[in-house]
Amino acid sequence: MHSIRFKTTAITIAEILTAILCVFLASFTIIQGEIDRRSVEIMGLIAKDTKKSVEKYTEDIERSVELASSLASDSIDGVLLVTAYNGTPDQKARLDDYLATYTATIQEEFATVVGQTRGAITYYYCINPDVSTREHGFFYSRVGRVGYDMREPIDARELDPADTAHTTWYYTPIRRGRPSWVGPYTAHFLNEMVIDSYLVPIYKSGILVGVLGMDIPLETLVSLVSSIEVYDSGYACLLDEEGRVLYHPSMKTGIVPDLPVDKALFDQPDSGNALIRYKVDGQERQLSFITLSTGMKLVIVAPTSEVNAAVRRLVTTIPPMAVGVAGFFALLTLLLMRYITRPLQRLTAASQRLAAADYEVELNYKGQDEVGALTASFTTMRDQLKTHIDDLNTRIITDDMTGLANQRHFFTLAINERDRLLSQGKLPVMVYFNLMGMKHFNRQFGFDEGDRLICAVAEVLANEFGVGHLARFSQDHFAVVTEEEGLDERLERVFEACKSANGGRNLPVSAGIYRNSTEEVSVSVACDRAKYACDTRRGSYVSGFCYFDLAMHRRVELIRHVIDHLDQAIEEGWVKVYYQPIVRAMNGRVCDEEALSRWIDPERGFLSPADFIPALEDAGLIYKLDLYVLDKILEKMRLQASYGLTVVPHSVNLSRSDFDALDIVEEIRRRVDASGFSRDMITIEITESIIGRDFEFMKEQVERFRSLGFPVWMDDFGSGYSSLDFLQLIEFDLLKFDMSFMRRLDEGENGKIILTELMQMATALGVDTICEGVETQEQVRFLQKIGCSKLQGYYYCKPIPLSEIVERHRTGIQIGYENPDEADYFEAIGKVNLYDLGAVAVDDQDSLLNIFNTLPMGIAEVREESIAFIRSNESFRDFMGRYFASDLDDSDFIAHIRNCGEDGGRAVF
Ligand code: C2E
Ligand code: CA
Ligand code: CA
Repeated sequence: MHSIRFKTTAITIAEILTAILCVFLASFTIIQGEIDRRSVEIMGLIAKDTKKSVEKYTEDIERSVELASSLASDSIDGVLLVTAYNGTPDQKARLDDYLATYTATIQEEFATVVGQTRGAITYYYCINPDVSTREHGFFYSRVGRVGYDMREPIDARELDPADTAHTTWYYTPIRRGRPSWVGPYTAHFLNEMVIDSYLVPIYKSGILVGVLGMDIPLETLVSLVSSIEVYDSGYACLLDEEGRVLYHPSMKTGIVPDLPVDKALFDQPDSGNALIRYKVDGQERQLSFITLSTGMKLVIVAPTSEVNAAVRRLVTTIPPMAVGVAGFFALLTLLLMRYITRPLQRLTAASQRLAAADYEVELNYKGQDEVGALTASFTTMRDQLKTHIDDLNTRIITDDMTGLANQRHFFTLAINERDRLLSQGKLPVMVYFNLMGMKHFNRQFGFDEGDRLICAVAEVLANEFGVGHLARFSQDHFAVVTEEEGLDERLERVFEACKSANGGRNLPVSAGIYRNSTEEVSVSVACDRAKYACDTRRGSYVSGFCYFDLAMHRRVELIRHVIDHLDQAIEEGWVKVYYQPIVRAMNGRVCDEEALSRWIDPERGFLSPADFIPALEDAGLIYKLDLYVLDKILEKMRLQASYGLTVVPHSVNLSRSDFDALDIVEEIRRRVDASGFSRDMITIEITESIIGRDFEFMKEQVERFRSLGFPVWMDDFGSGYSSLDFLQLIEFDLLKFDMSFMRRLDEGENGKIILTELMQMATALGVDTICEGVETQEQVRFLQKIGCSKLQGYYYCKPIPLSEIVERHRTGIQIGYENPDEADYFEAIGKVNLYDLGAVAVDDQDSLLNIFNTLPMGIAEVREESIAFIRSNESFRDFMGRYFASDLDDSDFIAHIRNCGEDGGRAVF
């Protein structure tokens, strides 16, 4: 990750460098162009300057010659000339004479002019041979610096036009018809001097009179050119009209220099603005030229490097300068960025610390820019976050209602306190408190009052133990870690103080204690164990405490074991289903079977349902077991049917948590329907205690089962405190009287009275009845007597596995199943009320017979041969015993019964 500082710095530096490079390139191009232009200009200027000085010299010559020539043409007698030209010899002779004087005059005048002209070495006038018969004209050449000597004039008649080498001076101006510079050429008459001549052809009346001229030494021109300085090593040179060298510092005269440039260029009068570059011997050069009035070309040459020296200087100085400038700006940028981004970096660092939960992080940037605003927002955010977090932390660790630590925080506090006590050589204990009957208290006094009571108890506990390691768990549960020594007295003090707490409106307190010395366990386990000990006091209605002991320890371990191994137990068949027959009181045959589970543990041996059922209920896992039991029942019924054995309805026990875990009604319906057995073959047993706990919900579930066609029995009827109102509000198919009734039967008459009353009431309501826990024949007789329709207990059979049922059938010691087709018949008979409740008299508590002091009633089953009283009340049996002790079959009484049975009438006997 690159920092903003790095990025901005890099970008800025890149920009600076690019800008500098662009400026450099642009300026370099502009400068180069400008330098080129300037160099052309300078070269041109040099050429022009040289031309000027050269031409100042030649113009003097020209002016002198032209002055003389105008004189020569003006002063000649035109008439004579014209006349003589085509005239007679006489006339021509006259012209000759005239010409002699005429040329003499011109010479005089010309001499005056030449005297004022610098640099001429000759002046002359050669008369056209066509206008004269003899030699005329003059020829003067210089002697010394100023004087001129007359020399033999040139005889024009000897000039052969074919001999161009010697006559060009004469014929060139004539051919051109205007004043002309001719040369350079070597003059034999001037000691082979190389000269240039300026010549003017003189005309009068269209007739060529002659050629007037003046010569100058080429040397003089060359000296003007050679002295020119062009940069350091450049030079000027002179070419003739044909491009031959006239002067060059290093070339011979006369040769045409072979330059690698366009030759046509030299056809132009000058190089103008053209930049002419070429390369010779690896050196780049640049030239410029101009044509002099003499027709010569003046050429200025200079090495490009010298011309461009300025550019070179620029080129060599600019880059280091640019680098310097760039470096400077880069440094400046770096510093600026550092300055600008430092607060941003601090902000970043601070944010990271804040993210790492450092709420004390400080930022002191006071700038008014965006970072300043950001810093201000950051500080506000930090403060708010700090407040929220503090608030949250407090909430997370405290219990709103009492202000004590909550369960979560308690674990930390408890660990610290335990370690502190241990380090001081003291024994720590975990104490768990629970108020007894809180639910009832809330129902009676309302939740607000309940809350007040909890707060009051919290205060009592805080006073006794301090708040540092005391916590309220959910509802009315508290826990504290304290020292073992003197604990009993402290608890007594707490119980005592609680008695007067909340203005006396309070509840007894139970405490469970876990000693660290029992086994060193984690705080949460210690807590669980203290709670377990506390829970064992359930049902007790006075304050007290209980230590977690070895038995509880085993129990807790067993619970853990059961929960951890349920799936394995089902899968591997540790869980077995036993069946206990239910016998119809009227015929002593099996009319139902109840499925009861057994856990035969490979490690721990036989576990009683009392061990594993509550553990699975608490863990919400009992549904797995109950559905397994149902599946086993269905399997058994299928098997029995396949062997042709009678199949009676089977009952399955359900627990409250079955209804929480899933829609157990629907699940059972699905499985039973899938099995193909009719729904009334599966009976649902629901204990009275769970109905009372959640009445409305359970009522609905019972109704759902019944409307689907499942018989529902109320199990353990009469074991708890449930009121008899239930029976009016929920309809059950049967009441199963709890086995405690059997125990009470043996204890005395009261048990019998109560059971008899309840039985009569059930019969009156049309509800079937069972008594479970039937162990003796007396109990059977009594129950038959009071009209209990079904019986279940060890008297008949213990719960046994399927294998044993099969075995009993094989050996023929089975009780025998009732014919299912007769079940309705027996059921109907069972429901006939043989008791006239209104006639019940309880005057004599000691005599049971008084209770049955009712109209004698009995039901007789009449067959072909015999007749049997299958149901009867006590009065009836008393009556029968008294009057038909012997020989009932032949009596009139029986004959009457048969008659009534046949014609449906009544008989008074
Ligand atoms: P429960 O439904 O009231 O079952 C009757 C209990 O009384 C059974 O105990 C049975 O063995 C016992 N018993 C039967 N006849 C006699 C007798 O003549 N004398 C004595 N002393 N006892 C007799 P068990 O099998 O130990 O079951 C105890 C309780 O566990 C059951 O009471 C039932 O509430 C529960 N339970 C058993 N199996 C299951 C099950 O598969 N699912 C559920 N949810 N609960 C079950
Ligand atoms: Ca039961
Ligand atoms: Ca029961």
